Amino acid sequence: MAIREVRIMGDEILEKKCKPVTKMTPRTRMLIEDMIDTMYERYGVGLAAPQVGVLKQIVVIDVGEGPIVLINPEIIETKGEQTGEEGCLSLPGKWGIVTRPNYVKVRALDENMEEFVIDGEGLLARAFCHEIDHLKGEMYVDKVEDGLHDVEDEEEE
Ligand code: ZN
Repeated sequence: MAIREVRIMGDEILEKKCKPVTKMTPRTRMLIEDMIDTMYERYGVGLAAPQVGVLKQIVVIDVGEGPIVLINPEIIETKGEQTGEEGCLSLPGKWGIVTRPNYVKVRALDENMEEFVIDGEGLLARAFCHEIDHLKGEMYVDKVEDGLHDVEDEEEE
């Protein structure tokens, strides 16, 4: 268990396409555990492997219902629309308004490389889209509708 350094926007690894995982190894299992630890440590709702410098198609998400691990995820269905705030651990202190589908269904592999299908609405649907975009080298800032805003950290006052 270890916390990994989160790459910040501008790092070119965040603009690259990730490769599919072909086989589960101890090293990949360790990566997944570290990604979950890093996501919790930074209070994120999701983290993609390129954000910790690894170009593999792995995503971890937790919107408050326990960790979800997605390997080689693929969005297979979307419905509706939601417009709301989005942020990213690779761009700390900022947020922007992004429109995403309100319902998203994903097919992926689990940590045992077994295929499963998971779906979600609202925040979970948004997290699926945001994190899977990372695997394609895309950041939410390119989809922001009204520019980036600063997070006002009231707790510091
Ligand atoms: Zn992100």
